[in-house]
Amino acid sequence: MTKNERTTCLVVGGGPAGLVLGLLMARAGVEVTVLEKHADFLRDFRGDTVHASTLNLLDELGLDDRFAALPQRAMTRAQVQLDCGMARVADMSRLPGPHKYIAMVPQWDFLDLIADEAETEPSFTLRRNAEVIGLLRDDGPHSRVAGVRYRDRTDGSEHELRASLTIGCDGRGSVVAAEAGLVPRSFGAPMDVWWFRLPREQGDPEGGVMRVTSGNFAVLIDRGDYWQAAYLIGKGSDAVLRREGIDAFRARLAALVPWLAERLATITSFDDVKLLDVKLNRQRRWAVDGLLLIGDAAHAMSPVAGVGINLAVADAVATARLLAPALRSGGIVPLSMLRAVQRRRWWPTALVQAGQRLAHNVLISGPVAVASSPAGSTAPASGLLDDNPQGLARMEDLPLPLRLLRRFPVLQGIPARIVAIGPLPEHAPAWARRSNARA
Ligand SMILES: Cc1cc2nc3c(=O)[nH]c(=O)nc-3n(C[C@H](O)[C@H](O)[C@H](O)COP(=O)(O)OP(=O)(O)OC[C@H]3O[C@@H](n4cnc5c(N)ncnc54)[C@H](O)[C@@H]3O)c2cc1C
Repeated sequence: MTKNERTTCLVVGGGPAGLVLGLLMARAGVEVTVLEKHADFLRDFRGDTVHASTLNLLDELGLDDRFAALPQRAMTRAQVQLDCGMARVADMSRLPGPHKYIAMVPQWDFLDLIADEAETEPSFTLRRNAEVIGLLRDDGPHSRVAGVRYRDRTDGSEHELRASLTIGCDGRGSVVAAEAGLVPRSFGAPMDVWWFRLPREQGDPEGGVMRVTSGNFAVLIDRGDYWQAAYLIGKGSDAVLRREGIDAFRARLAALVPWLAERLATITSFDDVKLLDVKLNRQRRWAVDGLLLIGDAAHAMSPVAGVGINLAVADAVATARLLAPALRSGGIVPLSMLRAVQRRRWWPTALVQAGQRLAHNVLISGPVAVASSPAGSTAPASGLLDDNPQGLARMEDLPLPLRLLRRFPVLQGIPARIVAIGPLPEHAPAWARRSNARA
């Protein structure tokens, strides 16, 4: 076991929160080490959205040109395809600022860019294959957190890394939170997600497609030559639905998205379909002495509206702005300063989670309950994209909120703003700003 290694700011987890935090801390001149348990960022379970407020942040960080060079698609509006037709819910062209869209970028490309940029800073270290397995305490089990124990997954060796401040960015199953005895308040979620790919062909719609019927709910994310598909199932119904067999699943999908029916043969077995466990929760306390939690470790987000990455990034920016000056001067960061991060980020998080809970209850519970019952497997679908890709629903068939959005298109700017910018966008502090860092 290696002991007595030290860093100033120890970040656990190299997701959006951890890497953005690492980059900003390094630009502040703080010695920062990010421990990431995987060897790379190549995992397809993450969301692909980079929101307008994160695009503004990338401009401020001077990373706009490099980001623009990544393969991406711009989502300029969000539509929902109901049985009665297509309805527009958000129009990003009404957003303020230069970025009037959400960029759909494979998250590994985005994270590679941030990691790459951070590694140009001398005070930044990213250790891959480093899985945190416990916390170090100054003295006794309830005293100040003084760093972590981690396992090198390449050879199984164990190490200790001490730090002035440890920040848990290790996501929904945070080991750091559990080791600190912090248990989140769970709001439950009515659904889990089946995650799989389907080929994408010329002439298919672009961007994101949300497909809702009275008995099924799916989202298709355009990743260029394939669709990353998410099919929502009732919470805990994975085993039952798998027992129905892959043909039954293909039949559900064919009814839901008939224009993809011929490509469903590419799902050869349930080995091609991954289960993603959806959680929605929030820690009551985001900090104890020596330790702060941010991102999903502090508040696990549902995939609804695809806003978790944006919130995680905003948490990271606020954390760096509030804590980097104290860390740079080498002092211990008092618990009151850690609590200031929670105070700043709590309300935007709570607001967004309240919206997600509402969507769970109003939009999702019904369809997934039907989808998860063996008899309700194939609710009729109109096949709209087959017949009429742009087919707008008749006004009188739409539920009231969607009718209002249709009648007063200016209102479509409100959901656009909520999703693409969020309630409290954070901006890069002056010391982190660059003009086109490596353009
Ligand atoms: C099915 C699904 C789809 C989603 N789609 C979207 C979307 O489209 N858009 C969106 O904005 N949000 C989406 N979300 C939410 C989003 O994924 C999260 O809110 C966001 O990833 C949180 O970022 P994070 O950095 O806090 O945590 P994560 O992205 O979870 O990153 C945590 C990192 O910590 C590492 N780690 C974990 N444990 C350890 C350990 N012990 N030691 C070291 N490293 C560790 C992990 O490997 C990972 O790299 C989705 C969520 C789900 C469940």
